[in-house]
Amino acid sequence: MKKASGRANPVKWQEVARGRFINEVAGLNYDEFMEEALTQARKAYAADQFPVGCVIVQDGGVIASGCRAGTSGDLAFFSEIDHAEIRALKALEAYEGEFKPERAVLFCTMEPCLMCFAAIILSGIKTVVFAYEDVMGGGTNCDLNSLSPLYRESGVRVVPHVLREKSLDLFYDFFNKEANLYWKGSLLEAYTLAQRQGAG
Ligand SMILES: [Zn+2]
Repeated sequence: MKKASGRANPVKWQEVARGRFINEVAGLNYDEFMEEALTQARKAYAADQFPVGCVIVQDGGVIASGCRAGTSGDLAFFSEIDHAEIRALKALEAYEGEFKPERAVLFCTMEPCLMCFAAIILSGIKTVVFAYEDVMGGGTNCDLNSLSPLYRESGVRVVPHVLREKSLDLFYDFFNKEANLYWKGSLLEAYTLAQRQGAG
């Protein structure tokens, strides 16, 4: 797995990511499918949810999708199960074809957390592409070599910062809305707002 050590300069990382990985999975245009994930994220945003979207692609087409739920400002507590990636993995149950995880690529508009990253690895998916880094709760930097064989030998690859700016726009808007309470006052909020103030 690639460590995203260059977070101080995300634009550079995006270029690196594109140059190195874009043709690694035959015929897949990462921008095109990240746009599909962004469509899911906008759906979440329109419903006052944390704007994360996810699609799972196999053999050149989307076979499952999901968006974040459980984060609306009206709730007494926020669900930490209903993440976009978990909901997309769950949606695979409705796919009528044969899921072949080794040929699938998961696109998510935010870096997966530890829970989702583990679920993706357990599903057998080998490639994860994300847009906006999660400096507070991202799980893809964990050292898989220190874990048990299922994780250590998963061979999962992570491609960061595909359409990062488009995803960042949504998080920026989310945190700027007074009514949105999810992660209000958090490190993630401060970092996100700083990205558009020239301080990040
Ligand atoms: Zn997650």
